[in-house]
Amino acid sequence: MTIDDTRRQWLRSAYMDRITEAAMHYAATRSYFIGSDFLEFIADDFAYLTELTAEDQQYLRDQVGLESLRLVALSRAKDREEFFGNVVAENPDVVTTDAEFAFDLGWLDLLQSAVERVRRYPDAWNTKIVGGKEKCGCLVLHVDCDYSVRGCRSEVERLREEIRLRSLATCEICGELGRLRIGQWAKTACDKHAAVLGDFREDDGKWSDPWKWHEDSDEYPPEAAEILKDLVPVRPRPKDHLVDFMPQTAIARQIDRDIEKNYGRKADLLLEFCGQIEIAVVAAMSVADDDVDFWMRSEIDRWQGVQPLSDEDREFLHRYMRSLAIDERGRRQRLEDGAKALENFLADNPALGQEADQFKGRERELLDAYAGDLADSARGSVVKVEFLNGYIRDEIALWPHMLELSEGDKEWLRAWLRKMIDAEYRRIKGKD
Ligand SMILES: [Zn+2]
Repeated sequence: MTIDDTRRQWLRSAYMDRITEAAMHYAATRSYFIGSDFLEFIADDFAYLTELTAEDQQYLRDQVGLESLRLVALSRAKDREEFFGNVVAENPDVVTTDAEFAFDLGWLDLLQSAVERVRRYPDAWNTKIVGGKEKCGCLVLHVDCDYSVRGCRSEVERLREEIRLRSLATCEICGELGRLRIGQWAKTACDKHAAVLGDFREDDGKWSDPWKWHEDSDEYPPEAAEILKDLVPVRPRPKDHLVDFMPQTAIARQIDRDIEKNYGRKADLLLEFCGQIEIAVVAAMSVADDDVDFWMRSEIDRWQGVQPLSDEDREFLHRYMRSLAIDERGRRQRLEDGAKALENFLADNPALGQEADQFKGRERELLDAYAGDLADSARGSVVKVEFLNGYIRDEIALWPHMLELSEGDKEWLRAWLRKMIDAEYRRIKGKD
């Protein structure tokens, strides 16, 4: 028997204390939420509540998970605010009051050492640290200074590069020795915190400096070699291989676009809560369908805005999150359907299936991302051979996110689609 809304609401309120307690216990000892770690932590908690069914107990464990995710993210954000706030407050001579730092606390020491160094610069340089952010796993420091003064530019650039290189050997989360990891996105992390990235990509470990991806030189400056010496050696980089990262989820991209499309109070709300909205929508994917509305509402009830939230504000946020969640489910569904369609196609064309099984790295990513499009276009082609290449070019141009792909990626997709079409033609002919 599945649990209905009334039962859920009752469970949530009757056991709220225990849910909160377990989540606080989890969050107290973690600076990051890691799925596998949580499952180990929660194990079969609540099994002692023998008056509840196994389903009820699982529901409570799920609620602890969601609450833990929220608590961990929240306390981390608070810590960051506090620590970076201190850096700003304690160094008014070096750091501007509106400086913003968008990276995690493991790099606080690096920032501190940059502050010390800038303090020793000549006054005439007018040097101020105005902010910094994490980009592709590196700490990029923003510095204002008077480049026209002799000696200023080279020293400031050296400082920024040194900080950046040191960040590539420092776990962004805890400050221990780390290296660049490549999963869904790039992040520099120690062995322990590598789990934050989930699964790794094929080329994880082959890169130690993302700045080198788009350049021609394979040479590191001598100071880089010193700093990077503990890291995995760099393999010579394939020349035409563009590594593209998607640090943003499709949800975050959608929110960004909607911030621009909306105006007034709505835009303010989206801007203020974009982080919470994204976390909540991702989390909502693991909430049962008929529980989503209730769960989102209780989530929004906890949010505190700069201005108090009115009922209309909450209603808008709720409707907005619902539409995002529907889009996200649609995206996931399309990916699943696409994978199935391609699987069927390859089952019909087993030689091609074997070839596809061998794909790794970028080729595998492209195949997975465009599985449905490939299968549709291959099955749908009824053109004469001489028009085939034109057909392929036109088809692929209509697929999503084509503008973000490199020329090499597109070329690969065209060649692979052509192979699929040829195989399908042969198969149909063979049947006649
Ligand atoms: Zn770490």
